[in-house]
Amino acid sequence: MRRKTKMVHGGITGDERTGAVSVPIYQVSTYKQPEAGKHTGYEYSRTGNPTRHALETVIAELENGTHGFAFASGMAAINAVMMLLKAGDHVVLTDDVYGGTYRLTTKVLNHMNLTHSFVDTSDPNAVEKAIQPNTKILYIETPTNPLLKVTDLNKMKQLAEKHDLLLVVDNTFATPYIQLPLDFGADIVLHSATKYIGGHSDVVAGLVVVQDDQLAERIHFIQNSAGAILGPQDSWLLLRGIKTLGLRMEAIEKNANKIATFLDQHENVTKVYYPGLKQHHGHVLASKQAAGYGGMIAFDVGSSEKADQVLSKVKYFTLAESLGAVESLISIPARMTHASIPKDRREELGITDGLIRLSIGIEDIEDLIEDLSQALV
Ligand SMILES: *Cc1c(COP(=O)(O)O)cnc(C)c1O
Repeated sequence: MRRKTKMVHGGITGDERTGAVSVPIYQVSTYKQPEAGKHTGYEYSRTGNPTRHALETVIAELENGTHGFAFASGMAAINAVMMLLKAGDHVVLTDDVYGGTYRLTTKVLNHMNLTHSFVDTSDPNAVEKAIQPNTKILYIETPTNPLLKVTDLNKMKQLAEKHDLLLVVDNTFATPYIQLPLDFGADIVLHSATKYIGGHSDVVAGLVVVQDDQLAERIHFIQNSAGAILGPQDSWLLLRGIKTLGLRMEAIEKNANKIATFLDQHENVTKVYYPGLKQHHGHVLASKQAAGYGGMIAFDVGSSEKADQVLSKVKYFTLAESLGAVESLISIPARMTHASIPKDRREELGITDGLIRLSIGIEDIEDLIEDLSQALV
């Protein structure tokens, strides 16, 4: 099966008993046992639920893994993965990881004597220098938020192998339609399914996929023990979202390419960050390890006043956090998603007050460009 066919026909489709074409929402907590201690595959819905199982099966197939796990949010998924660690372990992470991952690492996991180093993972030498004898996980995001920095998956795998680390990739920005980290040897791929996989700004969810049976057993044990599972209704929304993930990503990326080119040529824009642009520092690498460049664009208009002007004028870009849905969104990282990072550090990273982030949707491209045109004068 090719990618889009897999999204429609992969995993468990429909319901054998009734012929229903859509997997039913099994709104159920417990299951009748034929004999004490014997069950039919399901015993209690924290441990396993048929709707969630259908989702976990299809995401595993889409990521070329063998086992999938659905969680109540992206953060719950990330936390479950971090629960593989023991007190005293150390993690190396991409320096511009998602803010929630930064918060979990520095304000929650640190209380359990888990230590961390943040490095620019687009520089493999910096990664190797940060690895300590007690490092157990190399945690990367590629491309990153909001500057779309690209990290070399092959090189990270080499380092992980050499130092016996689990390579964990947050694939939220790329989606399995565009990038398959397990094919590069990653041990764990995870998602905030709230974003592109759900795709309609109507569900908060997280997914984890692995291809190793032992690791799968450990993740399932944590999922069942800690219990941050995704409910059947939300699992069903993701099953529905996945059917159009390929179509949406194609439409989104087509729009994103045109908008990035438009912004790049605009006199009031000082810098554009999009891996699809030839001058982007990660362009060559992104072209090699991914089947596309995604739908996230950042651009600089020079000052917070000018950024405010754009925000107040756009009609089709909704001012909101989050990303990856059918509707286009706009945000100011310095005052929203990245506000907790000190200004000096932000400027160092390139997250200036005039930086605007766009999550491109599936609207008509003419409307989106006309909208940005009138907002940028
Ligand atoms: C949103 C996001 C998360 C967190 O996911 P939630 O579903 O909001 O808990 C993690 N990583 C990335 C890259 C994200 O964009």
